[in-house]
Parts: sequence; C-alpha cells; structure tokens
Amino acid sequence: MTPRTLLATAPCLALVLLTLGYLALCVADPFGRCRTCKGTGRKRSPFDRLRRECRRCAGTGLRLRVGRHAINHIKDEYQAAKR
Ligand SMILES: [Zn+2]
Repeated sequence: MTPRTLLATAPCLALVLLTLGYLALCVADPFGRCRTCKGTGRKRSPFDRLRRECRRCAGTGLRLRVGRHAINHIKDEYQAAKR
C-alpha cells in the first residue's frame, strides 16, 4: 500500500468510523437535549414574559436522536416483515 492510497482511503475510513460511532451513541443514549428549549423543558414565549412548557419535547427537555428514529424504523419494518 502506497502512501497515496492510504491518503485516498483515509476520508472513507473516517466516514465509516463516524457513522458507526454515531450509531453506537444512538444505541447507548437514545435521547439528546431538546434544541428548542436547550434541555430545560420550558420556553419563553415571544409576547409575554411567561415561561411555557416546550411543545416540541412536551416539557421533558429530551428528544429522540435522528439515528435512533432510523433504528426504530428499521426494527419496526423487520418485525412487520416477520409477521
Ligand atoms: Zn424542549
């Protein structure tokens, strides 16, 4: 393997490692912090000074990661195909 081919395969390997790392994160910790309320569960409304419950996360401050959504969808399709 020449240094040139090593240099050419490095970005592909990096992408594969990033994807596998993200999937491992989605399995280990499926919930991330809500981006709308920044994990507080409350959001300040623009017209008054009240802090209301965040509608996106229903006040939990958590959201399901995109990768976990994909994993759940694949699992559901697999279960549906087995029936
Ligand atoms: Zn929220």
